[in-house]
Amino acid sequence: MKIDDTTLSIGTLRARPGSKVSGTVHADLSTLAVDIPVTVLNGSRPGPRVVITAGVHGGEFTPIEAAARLARLLEPGEVRGQVVICPVANPPAVYQGRLNVSPVDGVNINRVFPGDPDGSPTQRLADWLFTHLIDGADVYIDLHCGGIDQVLRDFVGYRLTGDQGLDKATAELARSCGVEDVILGLTPDGGNSHAAAARRGVCAVLVEVGELGQRDAATAGRRVDGLLQALRHLGVLDSEDSAPSPIREWVWTAGVTAQATGLWYPEFAAGGDVAAGGLLGRIVDPADGTEHPVHAPAAGRIFYGMHGLTVAAGAELAAIAAPWDHEHSDQNLGQAIGSPAFQIPGLGVPALDTPPTERRQVP
Ligand SMILES: [Zn+2]
Repeated sequence: MKIDDTTLSIGTLRARPGSKVSGTVHADLSTLAVDIPVTVLNGSRPGPRVVITAGVHGGEFTPIEAAARLARLLEPGEVRGQVVICPVANPPAVYQGRLNVSPVDGVNINRVFPGDPDGSPTQRLADWLFTHLIDGADVYIDLHCGGIDQVLRDFVGYRLTGDQGLDKATAELARSCGVEDVILGLTPDGGNSHAAAARRGVCAVLVEVGELGQRDAATAGRRVDGLLQALRHLGVLDSEDSAPSPIREWVWTAGVTAQATGLWYPEFAAGGDVAAGGLLGRIVDPADGTEHPVHAPAAGRIFYGMHGLTVAAGAELAAIAAPWDHEHSDQNLGQAIGSPAFQIPGLGVPALDTPPTERRQVP
């Protein structure tokens, strides 16, 4: 992304002030070549630069639909600042694999940001996306949902960075997205695009709406409405005098990964509550019927989880969050970090032979 005088360029796309340009940006990554659809709205009035991505993962349909709809809906005359929308950030995973991992190299791109220009094809794509779209944004919104085999209760996620001004602005953005549950992670660690952006000082949120490969118009419409609310909050669009809806705040307490390969029989629903040690389900070996029970390492609410029948060792089975009390955040923080189970879900798969204490993500 490049501002040359007042023209915003991404690859070969160039948007002058007061214009909207949509097209395909070709990224030649040497071991991978991809065509990435991008819409650039360059407002003629000053304002923040907002970047919205969807299709970072394959098999997550409603975010792609919502981003494409928003790109059609917005007009440059109504925009202050710039809005860049990329509805399909990871074309191989979206069009071929329809999975979290890319069929090109088996890498989950949302575990390797900011990427590596000399790495695997997916690491190179992460670097391209980070360099050309995300870095240089004031605000970054990454749209996801539960994949084809994942149940999910809608939430907005963000990470604390320790920069109080940035953390406050990000918390306010998270509250403006029209989603009732907001979940924070206590560190900006890991290869998620929103975490890597936060480490770079970008006000960044992850928005998760929808589940199980659904593509219904109502869910996509709900997401577009939420994005419009966020753009009003940011001053990109004219605000309407409506009070923001109340939200509930949570903190991630545990991510649960499969310790065995086999058939997965979950015993929870997205949005369900679980006690520490409570049974989440069983993995059954189809060869000999051996059962591996899976227990919750921490109490809380399950915000997303695997509901496909087949799982491999290391697959993420469930993500748990507990209520967050801003008033007593120091105490909360101490308790959460003191918990042996504490882990931000989705940071990547720890090596299964690593002792549990070394798998903890917070020092
Ligand atoms: Zn995703």
